[in-house]
Amino acid sequence: MRSGDVASERTDDPAGGGRRLKRTQGLVEEVFGVIRADIMALRIPPDTRISIEDLVRELGVSQTPIREALSMLEAVGLVTKRHFVGYCSAPQLNRQQLDHLYEVRLLMEPFAARCAAERMSPEALAAAEALADSMEPAATRASYDRFADQDAELHDRIAEGSGNPLIRGSLARLHSHLHIFRLRFHTVVATEALNEHARLLKALRDRDAVGAEGAMREHIERSYARLLPAAQD
Ligand SMILES: [Zn+2]
Repeated sequence: MRSGDVASERTDDPAGGGRRLKRTQGLVEEVFGVIRADIMALRIPPDTRISIEDLVRELGVSQTPIREALSMLEAVGLVTKRHFVGYCSAPQLNRQQLDHLYEVRLLMEPFAARCAAERMSPEALAAAEALADSMEPAATRASYDRFADQDAELHDRIAEGSGNPLIRGSLARLHSHLHIFRLRFHTVVATEALNEHARLLKALRDRDAVGAEGAMREHIERSYARLLPAAQD
C-alpha cells in the first residue's frame, strides 16, 4: 500500500491520547496503518502479544475492523497468529531470513533496473525522480517509517518500469521494506541510500542499462552490508 492512500481521520482527543478513530469507509485500512506504524516504530516490540481488547479501547472501534487489520498484517508478515496466545508482532528477521531476502532481491532488482533503463516511459521516470528528490535523511523513528514507505515506492516504480508485471509482483510479495526497515534504525542507512538512489536514477535518465543494473546491484549489496550487524544468527 502506498502512503497517502489513507486519509488520517484521527480525532483530537487529549484525554484519549489523540488516537481515537472516526468511522470511515477505510476504517480497516486506517486501523492497519496505525498498528503497522506501531510495529515499524517498535512501539510494539518484536515478538510481543497484541491485545485486541486494548486496541478496541484505545482506538474506539469494534473488534471486527481490528481483526481484519491484523489478518492483513499477518499477510504481509508483520504479525503472526499463535495458538492459545492470539496475535503477536512478528520477530525480527534472523540472519538466514535476511540472506534469503537479499538473494532474491539481488536476482531480480538489478535486472529490473536494467530493463527499466530501456523501457521506462519519460513520465514514469520523471515521477520516480520526483519521488527520489523528495526523500530526506530520516532523523527520527517516525520519519524513518516514512522513508521506508518512500523507498518501497521508489523500488516498486522501478520494478514497474521494467515492464514485467511478474517481476514487480514477485518483489512486492517479499514486503522487503517492511522487514528491513524494522531491523535497523540508523540515519546513515538513509543518507547512504540517497546517494545510491541518485546514481541509479542518473543511469536510468541516461538510458544506461548496464549502469542502472550495476547501480542497483551496488545499492542492494550495500544495503545488505548495512543491515547485517542488526540480524541475529
Ligand atoms: Zn532504495
